[in-house]
Amino acid sequence: MTEPVQALEIGRAATAFTAVCEICLGIDTAVGLSASTFAGRLELDLDEAVFLCRRGHQVSIVRAADLPAAAADSAAA
Ligand SMILES: [Zn+2]
Repeated sequence: MTEPVQALEIGRAATAFTAVCEICLGIDTAVGLSASTFAGRLELDLDEAVFLCRRGHQVSIVRAADLPAAAADSAAA
């Protein structure tokens, strides 16, 4: 059985993030720890990447999409 991959979104201009692994959160809560966060970097030229938490669970990091073009162009229409 494959564990679902957690997906997190980061800001358009973010190059570093701190994420909480939901799988570790469950494990850590069960044993009374609170160390389920991990940090990573996503360079600006990348829109998404898969990172591993400290236990090796996969977490998909996705950069937030650009604002809809219609919102920026509506004034010129
Ligand atoms: Zn984990």
